[in-house]
Amino acid sequence: MPILDAHTHVFPQYADLAVRAMDRAGVARCVTLAWHDGFGAGLRAQAAAFSRYPGRFILFGNVDFSRMNEPDFAVRAAEGMARDVDAGIRGVKVYKALGLEYRHPDGGFWRVDDARLDPIWAAAGALGIPVLIHTADPPAFWQPVDAHNFWNGVLHGAYAWWSYYRKGYPSREELLAERNAVIRRHPGTTFIAPHVGSNAECLDAAADDLDALPNLYYDLSARVPILGLPGRRAARARAFLLQYQDRVLFGTDSIYDDANVPTGMQAQCLYQPYAIPLHGADPEERYVETTAAFIQSHLDFLRTDRVQENPPFTRSTAGYRIQGLALPEAACEKLLWGNAARLLGP
Ligand SMILES: [Zn+2]
Repeated sequence: MPILDAHTHVFPQYADLAVRAMDRAGVARCVTLAWHDGFGAGLRAQAAAFSRYPGRFILFGNVDFSRMNEPDFAVRAAEGMARDVDAGIRGVKVYKALGLEYRHPDGGFWRVDDARLDPIWAAAGALGIPVLIHTADPPAFWQPVDAHNFWNGVLHGAYAWWSYYRKGYPSREELLAERNAVIRRHPGTTFIAPHVGSNAECLDAAADDLDALPNLYYDLSARVPILGLPGRRAARARAFLLQYQDRVLFGTDSIYDDANVPTGMQAQCLYQPYAIPLHGADPEERYVETTAAFIQSHLDFLRTDRVQENPPFTRSTAGYRIQGLALPEAACEKLLWGNAARLLGP
């Protein structure tokens, strides 16, 4: 069964390393999401680097949101997107910074559904490329980081800024409603909302959005620890993935960048910097080994009934387990390859 990882971040200088990890884990192809700089001349250099690995990488670009307070920003961004498609991008990635970071000159946040951004969403539809739009985060990011918070092993140190609790950010509900308004206004554009649409903790809401928005898809990246919690969570996740097996893409959020590879740190697992002792090992070899194990954990979650006692994702300090869902082969084929192939082309 071929496997397509629809959510990774590979800096082009680590493409060799990514291919080594992909080969070890049996991943044929991955979508690599550019890191805020996937447009213009920089994008062309990235596309050239990945073209050395035919069939292995699908490149998603970005919009240059650093210019969003300039006049005619979205119209110019849409024109740039058309040129970037010619240069090889197959989709556009929008970070959660839209909603949680980008501000107007007066200091207020840009709203996700601001009509001035509509030319961007419309252009993606006209160009036939999906928009992978990350909006909001888990509910726990708006809650106190205490013993009850499942993400309490993550939301400190290097990731403390991910906690929005009592810092004046828009609410999660507002952000998701704004995202859905954009998707509703652009029925000719395909949207992929990563991380189960930021609703892995509430699969009824995730299902409502899929029912209401036929141009919406999800990926599974970074949410296996929630979906696989043994008992009712895993049972509900299994039913959800069976019901929506045509609307969900497999993804891992594997990251190969300068902040992680040289230290052997696994950003995708959300370890703190230098949390993984190298003990003299070659950082790159260690990176390949632990990333392949990370990918395998996802595959075991979908395909086997194995309970993972020590999953390779940092989350609750109290620890947790992942229950394998043992999904049927036909559903796995869609999640692991078919749905992405349909949306992204050959
Ligand atoms: Zn990501």
